[in-house]
Amino acid sequence: MYRHISSFFGSLADFVFPPFCSHCHRRTSEGLVGGICRGCWSLVKKWQDGQCQRCGQPVAEAGSLCRHCLIPEWSCSDIKTIGPFEAPLSEAVHRLKYSDAKSVSRRLGAMMADIAASEEKYKKADMVLAVPLHNARKRERGYNQAQLLADQLGKVLKIPAHHDIIFRARHTRSQTTLNKEERLRNVEGIFKVKSPEKIRDKTIILIDDVLTTGATIGSCGQSLMKAGAKRILAMTAAAAPL
Ligand SMILES: [Zn+2]
Ligand SMILES: [Zn+2]
Repeated sequence: MYRHISSFFGSLADFVFPPFCSHCHRRTSEGLVGGICRGCWSLVKKWQDGQCQRCGQPVAEAGSLCRHCLIPEWSCSDIKTIGPFEAPLSEAVHRLKYSDAKSVSRRLGAMMADIAASEEKYKKADMVLAVPLHNARKRERGYNQAQLLADQLGKVLKIPAHHDIIFRARHTRSQTTLNKEERLRNVEGIFKVKSPEKIRDKTIILIDDVLTTGATIGSCGQSLMKAGAKRILAMTAAAAPL
């Protein structure tokens, strides 16, 4: 009862004092998703066909990285991202970690599903997996933001999203102060596959929130390949410049 009353007053307050969109800072009574209004969601910059999935430079093959952005020892056969890590997409990804996680993951997951649905390889994948967080980090936050995206993508594409197949065996120090080579070494062998029988010969869509160096998602893909997966199709919401 109390919840009904408080949500009634919550809606009333939104009606009388509509909330601010975190991007354009305008009040709107339309209802925000992840703190962002409908107009601002439509401003999200998306890659077009033939653009590098990280920097936007033209590439010969759709859904790939240009020569400059290629990741050494990259174990994923393909990579898809919605667009560059620029506002308002970067704000939405930020909110995935700190607030409005559920609603923003639904929106971002649906956008990722749209992209995946336009590509046969992705559409026909056997399962969706998320790059796992270390347990300590997950306890702190209460959830893994990449898993929220993976669940949503799986739901829309009707591909099972599993939770217990791969885990992060050790905590890694922050990547931000490391150079490219150090980052690769920092994440080497940090993922362990718990149930290799479930991934044998499977094509897996592997999800993370942001593509930075690609070292983390690459290391995760490598563990899956070593454990018997057939192909790893990487996918992240946004791509940060190198
Ligand atoms: Zn707005
Ligand atoms: Zn590039």
